[in-house]
Formats: sequence, C-alpha cells, structure tokens
Amino acid sequence: MNSIFDSSNQDNIDRKIAVGFERISEVLKTLIWEESKQTGLSPIQIQFLVALLYEGKSEWTIGDIASRFQLTPATVSDAVSSLEDKELAVRERKPDDRRTVYIRLSPKGKRLAKKLSLWANTLQQQIEVLDEEEKGVLLRSLVSIISGFQHNELISIAKMCVTCSYFRPNVHKNSTQPHYCAYIDEPLGEPDLRVDCPDYEMIEV
Ligand code: SF4
Repeated sequence: MNSIFDSSNQDNIDRKIAVGFERISEVLKTLIWEESKQTGLSPIQIQFLVALLYEGKSEWTIGDIASRFQLTPATVSDAVSSLEDKELAVRERKPDDRRTVYIRLSPKGKRLAKKLSLWANTLQQQIEVLDEEEKGVLLRSLVSIISGFQHNELISIAKMCVTCSYFRPNVHKNSTQPHYCAYIDEPLGEPDLRVDCPDYEMIEV
C-alpha cells in the first residue's frame, strides 16, 4: 500500500481524505499543546481532567482511565499523582470497599477542567459553516470510520449509537428519523446519532 503522504498520488480520494484527517489531527495537537504550555499540565493530563468532568461516569478507577485512553495503569497513576500534587484531583476509598481507589476531581480541578474543555471548540466552529446536509453526511461517515477503528481495537469504546444495545436501526422506513433508541424511547435521524452518549450500553457479543 502506498503512503498517504505520497503527494504525487492525487487521483486517490481515500488518500486525500486521510491526509485531511491527518491535518486536522495536527491542528488539534497544536491547540492542546498551547493549553499545555499555559497550564503546565501535559496534554494527557488535560484530557484526563476533561474526561473526568464530562464523560458521564461518576466513579473512575486508574484502570478505567487507562482503558479509556489506552495507556498503562502505571502511566495513568503517575499522571494522576501529578494532578493530586497540583490539588486538581484526589484519590479516595469508599468505607464499604477499601480495596478500590477512585479518582475524582477537586473543586479546583473541576473549574480548570471546564475552562480547558474549550480547547477543541475551534473545530466545531469550522464545522458550523457546513450546511445541514453536509453535516449529516459527515457525521454518518465519521461514525462509520470510528466504528471501524473500534472493531480493530485501535480506539477504546466509542459511545456511539451504532454499537449500542439500545439502538434499533431502520425500524421506520421512509422516515427522516428511521432509527430508534430504546433507552430514551425516541426516534433518531442521521443527525441525531450520538458519538459520546452518556447512556450508551455496549452490545453484548
Ligand atoms: S442510549 Fe445513547 S448511544 Fe444508545 S442508542 Fe440511545 S442515544 Fe444512542
């Protein structure tokens, strides 16, 4: 297979789309590094803070974070220790379960996570200029690409409708909302498909 970076190959649309994603990933890396320089936190620490604040899970263990970011528990533990030193996170045990250590954000950590969570908003601003049809096609395409990565175990569980046990695809033919979510009990159109749903439940295989 030829490299996607071989710019002499201008006839392959797959290659050009892949290069486009790579350019976007460069932008995102640059943006998070800017936040990193300003705060003294590493990019992954910033991502931990934002995940703990927004990913709809009330209790995180080191293992949960390691699984979410596909890192080793030792790497996560080091990063969490650094967040603890900065008084942004705390480790705690429950009275009824002394063996498991949970990580939660401190009030200071929550405030900072909220502020830092805006680091990728410029990407959304670029998407806002597309028309609704383009957005629908883009969302569906992204869901498909992410599903492929998930299938190949290249990303951790993506909380998307198409891999959720509550998802019922194409139950209403000839409708703008052909799909159905059995959890929220509502029809879903293509633009309604979620990629980070807090109510997601993985399909049992
Ligand atoms: S629970 Fe969330 S991810 Fe699952 S089908 Fe419903 S909306 Fe989609």
